[in-house]
Amino acid sequence: MQKRELIRNYNRSTVLEIMRRKKVVFRAELSRETGLSIPTIMKITDGFIQHGLAVGAGRGESSGGKPPELLEIVPQSRLFIGMDISGTKLKCIVMDLCGDIVYQKSCYRRDLPPHFDTDTIIAYIESTIEESGVCRDRITGIGLSVPGIVEASNGTVITSIDYGWKNKDLRTPLEQRFNLPIFIENSSRTMAIGEKWFGKGEKTDNFALITVGHGIGGAFIINGEIYDGFYRMSGEVGHMRIDPEGPLCKCGKRGCLETFASGSAIKTQAMALVESNPQSAILTLAGNDKSKIDSDLVFKAAAMGDELARSIIDNVVNYLAIGLENLISILDFKLIVLSGYVVKGNDEFVKRVKNQINNTRQLYYGEKPIEIKVSALGEEAAVIGAATIPLRSWVSSVE
Ligand SMILES: [Zn+2]
Repeated sequence: MQKRELIRNYNRSTVLEIMRRKKVVFRAELSRETGLSIPTIMKITDGFIQHGLAVGAGRGESSGGKPPELLEIVPQSRLFIGMDISGTKLKCIVMDLCGDIVYQKSCYRRDLPPHFDTDTIIAYIESTIEESGVCRDRITGIGLSVPGIVEASNGTVITSIDYGWKNKDLRTPLEQRFNLPIFIENSSRTMAIGEKWFGKGEKTDNFALITVGHGIGGAFIINGEIYDGFYRMSGEVGHMRIDPEGPLCKCGKRGCLETFASGSAIKTQAMALVESNPQSAILTLAGNDKSKIDSDLVFKAAAMGDELARSIIDNVVNYLAIGLENLISILDFKLIVLSGYVVKGNDEFVKRVKNQINNTRQLYYGEKPIEIKVSALGEEAAVIGAATIPLRSWVSSVE
């Protein structure tokens, strides 16, 4: 693209971004905020009106002369599909230009036929579009959130343990079916994108999103964008080694953070420790069935004052804080957004992690507090992020 065209493109995107945010604006306001001249703004916004992205919305107060015309964005002039295929659930949404969800549906994977493949994804997207009743011509792009390692540049899933995929090209069959731009991304990254644009990360361009669920995963937003790393494998926070003599991790190393502070680590520890502590409330809450123990029960027992449960949670707080401290000391994040079932609804736990991090830091860095927040979007972050990728891509190249 030529330099002049790049600048034009950038100007259009900047104007559209302000209109998306404000929904109703005066042209003079756009000129003031962007520093572009009124004639340039006129040209850009006339183009938007021609393409159905905006409409006139009456006139404002006159300060002498012709009263200024108000412009209003048409949110549903362009629509974006986001789909999240997690280990247990499928979710699909139709999102409009302003980021509002027009239609959504979800189901458990177990309720679908056992053979899950690209055809299942296509059929699910098709049924979402059908049921939403939206005009197909307005659908502008599709984003997919997948658990596993993803090569976003060519839409290939390198590995997904949940689905048994290896080097699977998801993009081509979807492109052929829908004839639209298709984006495939790893679920930690779609979650971070969701948080960046519509969640807790909205006000900052630098933060880490860390999921503490069955495992521990993460993604980093640096200068407003996902930080990829050379092999696109950044964010593997769960496999940061905390203790070289620690438990064996699924990645083959010993003592990764995930083996100390994830939901499955809590479960494994509790199941082993109730053997020598049969009086623990953890076992009572599990109906004396060891196999029913999970992290939720351990938190419940700890809240009831059970000593074993409390000591397990104390350890998790300690290790998670150490892992996050390591991350912060390298990348200097001011904000960590936590997500996943271990932190969900566990405000006291999150507060303790935050306090440990800040108390430890203070010794060396002085008063430089870190914010630890729980995701506002929760489980929805990935599907919102998935739809946000085609939305951002389209806005940044708007004709
Ligand atoms: Zn590991």
